Amino acid sequence: MSRRFAVWWLLVAALAAGGCSSFDRSRLPDSLAPATPEISQKHATIVEAERVQLTRDYLAIHNPKLAEGLSAANEAATIRFDPRVIVVHYTAIPTLAGTLDAFRSTTIGSYRQTIRQNGRLNVGIHYVVDRDGSIYRLYPDDLIARHVIGLNHVAIGIENVGDGDLDERGAEAPLTEAQLEANRQLVRYLKTRYPGLEYLVGHSEYRQFEKPRHPGHHLFYEERPEYRTEKVDPGRKFLRRLRRLLRRDRP
Ligand SMILES: [Zn+2]
Repeated sequence: MSRRFAVWWLLVAALAAGGCSSFDRSRLPDSLAPATPEISQKHATIVEAERVQLTRDYLAIHNPKLAEGLSAANEAATIRFDPRVIVVHYTAIPTLAGTLDAFRSTTIGSYRQTIRQNGRLNVGIHYVVDRDGSIYRLYPDDLIARHVIGLNHVAIGIENVGDGDLDERGAEAPLTEAQLEANRQLVRYLKTRYPGLEYLVGHSEYRQFEKPRHPGHHLFYEERPEYRTEKVDPGRKFLRRLRRLLRRDRP
């Protein structure tokens, strides 16, 4: 085949494989106008020694090199990280009370088989956004929480209380406009606080980081190749609108 044809074919193949263009959308603007949303500490998770130890055990399974480098002290400071990515979720639970219940325990429930087989640490999250847009900080921004395979060591997580995309038919509690606005303010606040944040992805998009062609690939690490999940949260419409708002928020 001619050289020009070969180049064209490679381009088509790259786009068909997931496309760099979709990944580029997940890049945050270099800077965003600052924001100071109200953030409640009312439901903050107590990061006690057991939770720290379980986090270290989790890392020993899933990111052993990182775990080896941690200090021997069993203190929260040993699971600190440098935020590079924001991952947006929805809880698949329609109420704040139900959401807080799910995050309360230090260990994972026995009903979550796949997750439990991969470490006893419960899922955890940095922020929860209630349906009326109220923002709660559960974890300190820079402590590793378990919310996304392969990226926990670089990612701040935002959970939105709900079980469907904006206006999603059939959902009991589709995400709301108030949550969209709260996510926008929270992302602006975080980007100002941590200029090293480079990406904003939906949980549904985390596997994009695995593709070696992509520039974010070096951020993804998961020791077990079989440990992957398929996610749909927080929904395409929510992500598209959030990204559009953030592009407008460039200073
Ligand atoms: Zn999720």
